[in-house]
Amino acid sequence: MPPAVPPLSPALSPEGERENARQAIGAAANRLAALSPTPRLDAELLMAHALGVTRDTLLLSRLDDAAPDAFAALVERRLRHEPVAYITGTRDFWTITLAVGPGVLVPRPDSETLIEAAVDHFAGTAGPRSVLDLGTGSGALLLAALDQWPQSGGVGIDASDAALVIAAGNAARLGMTDRARFAIGGWTGNGAVHDLILCNPPYIGTGEILGAEVRDWEPASALFAGEDGLDDYRAIAPVLRGQLAPGGVACIEIGSTQAEAASALFADQGFEFSVRPDLAGRPRCLVLA
Ligand code: GLN
Repeated sequence: MPPAVPPLSPALSPEGERENARQAIGAAANRLAALSPTPRLDAELLMAHALGVTRDTLLLSRLDDAAPDAFAALVERRLRHEPVAYITGTRDFWTITLAVGPGVLVPRPDSETLIEAAVDHFAGTAGPRSVLDLGTGSGALLLAALDQWPQSGGVGIDASDAALVIAAGNAARLGMTDRARFAIGGWTGNGAVHDLILCNPPYIGTGEILGAEVRDWEPASALFAGEDGLDDYRAIAPVLRGQLAPGGVACIEIGSTQAEAASALFADQGFEFSVRPDLAGRPRCLVLA
C-alpha cells in the first residue's frame, strides 16, 4: 500500500548518495506548499538554521552540502503549522535580528510601518530623546527605534513577565542595555512622557477566523481585543496624551479594517491623526499628535 504522503527526504538517494541541501529544500518546499504561502522561503530558513548559517550564506555557497539530519525534524514542526520564527528562534525586523519564542508575537513586516512613520516624523531632527513601546513583546519596536536613533533611550512595557525576559535578552544581544529598559505594566506606561510612543496592541476580534499558525501558536493575550477588536484602543486612547511629550508622536498599529473606528476613539481624545498604509497598501498605522 503506497503511503498517502511521500516521505520527506530520504537521506539517501536511490543511488545511495546523500541528498544535498538544494534537493532537500525542493522536496520540503513541495510539502510546505500545502500550508504556507512562502514554502520555499520557509524551507530555506529551516535549512540555514539546520546548517548553522545565514540564509544568504546557504544560498551563496552551501546548497551542495549534504542535508543535515536535523532538517527533517524542523520541516515536520513547520508542517504542524509552527511558525518558522519559533522553530529557528529568530526573526529579522527592520534593521535588527530578534530572538522570539512562543511567549511573544512574531514580529511582522506590517509593524515596520510604525517605524517608517516615526522616521518621517523625526526627519531632519536628532530623533526622539525618549521612546516608549507599549506592549513591547519581543522588544521589536523599541529596539528597532533605538537602532534607528543611536542617541535615543527608551522603555518597553508589557503585561507578560515571559515577554520581558525575551525583550531584555534581545536588548542585551543588540548591545542596548544602557539605552533600553523594560518594566511590567499596562497601557498607562511608566508615568513619564516620551517623544515617540510605539504600540502594537491586540486588535483581533474574538470571533475572527485566524490561520492555524497564528491561532494555535501565538499568544492569545497579544492578539485578541474583545468582540470588535477595539477594546485595547478604548483603553489606550484616554491615557495616551499624558504620556506624550509636546511635539511628540504616537504610532499605533491597527487592523486593516479598523482605521475609521480606531481613529475616532483617538480623535475623541483631541488627537490629530493620519493613517499610514503598510507595504500592501492597507491601513496599518495611526499617526497621532
Ligand atoms: N497583525 C497580527 C495578525 O494579523 C495581529 C497583531 C495584533 O493583534 N497586534 O495576525
